[in-house]
Amino acid sequence: MIDANSISKQYNGTAALKNISFQVEEGELFGFIGPDGAGKSSLFRILTSLLLPDSGQVKIFGFNVVDDYKHIRKITGYMPGRFSLYSDLSVEENLEFFATVFGTTIKENYHIIRNVYNQIEPFKKRRAGKLSGGMKQKLALSCALIHNPKLLVLDEPTTGVDAVSRKEFWELLKDLKKNGITIVISTPYMDEAQLCDRVALIQHGEILSVDKPGNIIRNYNRVVYSVKADNMYELLKDLRGFPETLHAYAFGDVIHYTCKNDSLDAENIVLYLENKQHSSIEVNIITPDIEDIFIDLMQSKNNQ
Ligand code: ADP
Repeated sequence: MIDANSISKQYNGTAALKNISFQVEEGELFGFIGPDGAGKSSLFRILTSLLLPDSGQVKIFGFNVVDDYKHIRKITGYMPGRFSLYSDLSVEENLEFFATVFGTTIKENYHIIRNVYNQIEPFKKRRAGKLSGGMKQKLALSCALIHNPKLLVLDEPTTGVDAVSRKEFWELLKDLKKNGITIVISTPYMDEAQLCDRVALIQHGEILSVDKPGNIIRNYNRVVYSVKADNMYELLKDLRGFPETLHAYAFGDVIHYTCKNDSLDAENIVLYLENKQHSSIEVNIITPDIEDIFIDLMQSKNNQ
């Protein structure tokens, strides 16, 4: 469905995208996971024909995003990162506006947006600017869907939205996917990686890894420990000061820890911490999280 080859983009000589290539299959829910400034929005604006790449080529269903931009705009629905609706128009007026721009009506395509729009329809007379974050996001999704696109491009739709609305949003995406729509989504939230069919980890305009989230975790070959002790602040400091440490960072109420050398085991870590006078020390091997792997990949890349 999407075939992107060697996409590069610079702003005033600074590279935002460096030779990015990837493919997305029809019907996939494909996620770009990466921190602020990774290049996600630039890439999505190129995919939706709103920004020209400096070099490289993207084809969507065989159509070139530069030469065939009119067709691309018909078959893609785009939800930009920033709130893109008209704050002074009501919910219903916003939706009507987008339907009209694409030569359709709410009635004609109601079946496509039903599950999403249902949830905000009771507030259809309310101005969009007065909606909560979660409701704005559902209205923006309805507007992106109203012309029945084959591809949905969602730029950080869950950023700044509360946890319940985030969960509801992903449920809606799952429903849309069942109806065959292809979805490309970006997010800075690592926990959302697990909800995608495949993810691309992106940093400084480069893709570090592309795979199914399960495969990324399975193929990771370092041992990750969860470490706890009474004084977590001192614990983090001491672990970071340990010459054997590769990574040590707070992860919820524990520290995720990896060693440079896997010949070191939990007992060695406990011994080191006992020598540093820590108490109630717990060291356990855990299944790595995508975030552990991403941190490792990012740092390895930075050290190159
Ligand atoms: P993300 O969506 O992952 O946060 P962006 O694509 O917005 O990443 O930004 C990638 C890089 O390009 C960042 O360093 C950002 O500051 C820079 N950038 C983005 N848009 C512009 C612009 N219009 N002018 C100059 N620099 C930009």
